Amino acid sequence: MKQTITRFAPSPTGLLHVGHAFSAMFAADAAKRAGGDFLLRIEDIDHGRCHPQFETAILDDLKWLGLDWPEPVRRQSDHIAEYADALDRLDRLGLLYPCFCSRAEIRREIAESDRAPHIAGADSVGPLYPGTCRNLSTEQRQSRIANGEAYALRLEMTAAIAEPLTWTDRDHGETPATPEIFGDVVLARKDIPTCYHMAVSLDDHLQGVTLVTRGEDLRAATHLHRLLQALLGLDTPDYRFHALVTSDDGVRLAKRDKSITIASLRDAGRTPGEVMAMAGWDDGS
Ligand code: GLU
Repeated sequence: MKQTITRFAPSPTGLLHVGHAFSAMFAADAAKRAGGDFLLRIEDIDHGRCHPQFETAILDDLKWLGLDWPEPVRRQSDHIAEYADALDRLDRLGLLYPCFCSRAEIRREIAESDRAPHIAGADSVGPLYPGTCRNLSTEQRQSRIANGEAYALRLEMTAAIAEPLTWTDRDHGETPATPEIFGDVVLARKDIPTCYHMAVSLDDHLQGVTLVTRGEDLRAATHLHRLLQALLGLDTPDYRFHALVTSDDGVRLAKRDKSITIASLRDAGRTPGEVMAMAGWDDGS
C-alpha cells in the first residue's frame, strides 16, 4: 500500500476564508490519520487574477491555523513549460483543435441553434461548446493562425474517449467517469498555454498525490481529470469530497466576503480553534 499523500491547492486570487480553512484541514487530517504527508500547492496559472501578496497571506493563514507542509511548495506558474509539453503530447495524438471563438460568439451560436448539444449531467459544468471551430479545414485553421488570430486549444471529446474509465470515490466507491459532460473542453486558453484541468492532473501525478480531497463543487471536474490521466499515462489518485461551508443563510462563501476571511477573524482576536469551529470543523470527526 502506497504512503498516503494529500494536498491543499489554493489559488492566490484573494484571502482565504473559513471554507478554505475547512478544506485545508480536511486534506491535512486525512494525511495525518493515514500517517502520510500533506502538501501545499499554489495554483497560480491565471496571471491576471493571481497576486503574490495573496500567496504570502495564504501561507501565513495556514501556518497560523497550525498546518505545516514540506518545502519547497510547488507553484504552478514555475511549471508552465511542463504543462505545455503535456498539451503537445495530446496535440500529437490528434486530439486538439484551435478554437478562435470569443465567449460572445459561443453564446450567440448556442442561442441561435435549436440543436445545441445536450448531454445529461453537463448542466453542472456550463454550456457545451457547439463545435463551431471543430469543422474548420486545415487550410482555414492555418490561415487564421498565420493572420495572428488568438486561439484556444480544445479537446475533441468524442475522439479522446476510447474506453470506459472509472475512479474511486472513497465514500461512494467505484464511479464511472463521464468526461463527455464537458464536451470539447478548452485545455489551453487564449492567454495561457494550459488550464486548471491540465495543471492539476499533471501536478497530482508528479507530486505522487494518492488522495485528492476537495469541495463538492469540484466533483464534476474529476471526470475530466480521469480522462486526462488516461490520455497522458498519469496515476489516478483516490478522491474524497467535502460539503462546502455556507453562511448561516445557506449561501456559499466567496472570497469577496471580507468578514469571514481567516485574516479578518485573526485580526478580530479569534483563535485558530474558534475559526475552525466557525468552519464547522469537529476535531473528533
Ligand atoms: N485551485 C483550486 C481552487 O482554488 C482547487 C484545486 C483542486 O483542489 O483541485 O479552487
